Amino acid sequence: MPIYEYRCKDCETVFETFVSSIPDADKVVCKKCESKNVEKQISTFASRLSGSSSNAPAGALSGCSSKSGFS
Ligand SMILES: [Zn+2]
Repeated sequence: MPIYEYRCKDCETVFETFVSSIPDADKVVCKKCESKNVEKQISTFASRLSGSSSNAPAGALSGCSSKSGFS
């Protein structure tokens, strides 16, 4: 289940919430003041995950090339 990060424009509280579907995303309210004036943030957590996963294959590739060079 995806976790989305929202920021409340009224009290500037940043909070994370589970959103199982797009209609649910429209019902998200601030956890502090319950305002509907919230905006979805681009998740830095997700971009970090994809960045680390792109690094892993690169390390595996260099391992393979050194093996092929040995044989
Ligand atoms: Zn708020």
